[in-house]
Amino acid sequence: MKEYLLSTIRDVKDFPKEGIVFKDITTLLNDPKAFKTLMDHLEERYKSYDLDFVAGIDSRGFIFGSVLADRLGVGFVPIRKAGKLPYTTMGEKYALEYGVDEVEIHIDAFRDKKDAKVLVIDDLIATGGTAKAAVSLVNKAGAKCVEACFVLNLTFLDGASKIESPVYSVLEI
Ligand code: AMP
Repeated sequence: MKEYLLSTIRDVKDFPKEGIVFKDITTLLNDPKAFKTLMDHLEERYKSYDLDFVAGIDSRGFIFGSVLADRLGVGFVPIRKAGKLPYTTMGEKYALEYGVDEVEIHIDAFRDKKDAKVLVIDDLIATGGTAKAAVSLVNKAGAKCVEACFVLNLTFLDGASKIESPVYSVLEI
């Protein structure tokens, strides 16, 4: 299963800048067999977690997260880049190679459910900065991140070690 899924992800060299090998998951998404295989695997893993919400990271985390939330019969929460959410938000800043970025969540994202069990999901973990901020934000919003899940982990960057919740990745490089 893993070798097969890995073979459906395309490498794009020098995107968005020279020296980066971009892992393009659009070639997994437009292959119905691959997309279903991945979602079946995630549903099987998380159906016993008794989750209350799946929170997806802007923007490719929305694709996997919303399908998974629907399959599990739980709500979906978007964690967005700063300035995109319309209602009152909480934010968490994180360092980039040059400068800082910020992710935000609506203050009532978890519908006042105390200690809601949340899965954070994104397509890929590289240095882990984005996911670390997303997990902190979920906890700051009064919920509990029970796991952070990624389709692909670039393990040589050791991002998972920064995350304060357990980490699961379907595929590793
Ligand atoms: P990081 O905060 O370094 O873990 O970066 C993770 C975020 O950047 C995720 O939302 C990824 O989608 C994106 N990203 C970082 N590196 C890559 C890469 N080589 N290929 C595709 N997406 C990447």
